[in-house]
Amino acid sequence: MKIPFNRPFLTGKETRYIEEAVASGKISGDGMFTQKCHQFFEEKFNFGKALLTTSCTDALEMAALLINVQPGDEIIMPSYTFVSTANAFVLRGAKIIFADSSAENPNIDAHKIEALITPKTKAIVPVHYAGVACNMEEILDLSKHFKLFVIEDAAQAIDSYFNGKPLGGLGDLGAFSFHETKNVIAGEGGLLAINNPKFMQRSEIIREKGTNRSAFFRGEVDKYGWVDIGSSFLPSEVIAAFLFAQLENLEKIQKKRRQIWDRYQEGLQHLADKGIVRLPFIPDYASNNAHMFYLVFEKMEQRTKVINALKAKGILAVFHYLSLHKSKYFGSQYNGEELKWSDHYTECLLRLPMFYDLTTDEVDLIIDTINQTIDAKVLV
Ligand SMILES: *Cc1c(COP(=O)(O)O)cnc(C)c1O
Repeated sequence: MKIPFNRPFLTGKETRYIEEAVASGKISGDGMFTQKCHQFFEEKFNFGKALLTTSCTDALEMAALLINVQPGDEIIMPSYTFVSTANAFVLRGAKIIFADSSAENPNIDAHKIEALITPKTKAIVPVHYAGVACNMEEILDLSKHFKLFVIEDAAQAIDSYFNGKPLGGLGDLGAFSFHETKNVIAGEGGLLAINNPKFMQRSEIIREKGTNRSAFFRGEVDKYGWVDIGSSFLPSEVIAAFLFAQLENLEKIQKKRRQIWDRYQEGLQHLADKGIVRLPFIPDYASNNAHMFYLVFEKMEQRTKVINALKAKGILAVFHYLSLHKSKYFGSQYNGEELKWSDHYTECLLRLPMFYDLTTDEVDLIIDTINQTIDAKVLV
């Protein structure tokens, strides 16, 4: 492919910091670079506590352990999301209750949540799709009223905000990803933001194989041992070193992505004005961290034609998220209620290439190819 969908990138000191980590004599977890990353998130986004994990999937699994999900507990989340959002809770025996996306964007439709709450409901898991905030005011109101936990899947939402408040910092817990397709990358990597003080101590233990090793290293206990259930959720210093170099350049990364995003919007807005496609919708309460630029067509065949036209020019645009309620794994358990918007995004949403090193010329070629395809009236 001439223009891939994604390409990993360096911002400056990544390899130098990895060498420094090795030279320090410690590349297992929770060394100097991990501490620097934790501090960065706690200071910049005011998270109660930040813990690096090896993926967002792991951070979500930690969240499921922390809220003590028991078999039969119900967890409400959108169907239009990545499998990990659901799997983390399914692993603990939870029953997943899928809610539809909203008409205006793929985020969970907050108005549809209340009807799904039962005495067994334990948590709501909003996913900030494309880094655009869900309606957190409504979700937090519901959680207070019905005494539910809120776990934000903020995998795509670094440096994005709801009414000025950092995403991942609003719920009891928030999970981030540094997978190579996200804004800030470490190959694989993640972070759990712990905002509810009740989870702070136990989160360290669960992340360290169920031991109180973190407290031991701080000198708070004189030996460490097995005190709870847990697993190994912490990344090595090699990953933390790479990540910290990226975090130091967060502003530069976000600015660059914003420029790409704005250029896409300028070049494609006329299609939305004519009602041919929809562009990302960002509510007044939400910021745009330029994680993703997508188009929503009216029909699947239109999307297929545009994908093929782009492919013919060597450009890879992709779609994603088969509604989880219709997946091979979950399908037979689903109660059959239609989730219209979730299915619509499954069939009609297309993501355009979006990565730090994408050049202006490349963006223009993508825009021109889409415009030419649509001018050729292939969509009718
Ligand atoms: C990327 C992503 C994940 C998984 O992140 P990993 O770090 O790859 O485990 C989970 N949820 C959403 C919404 C994502 O976009």
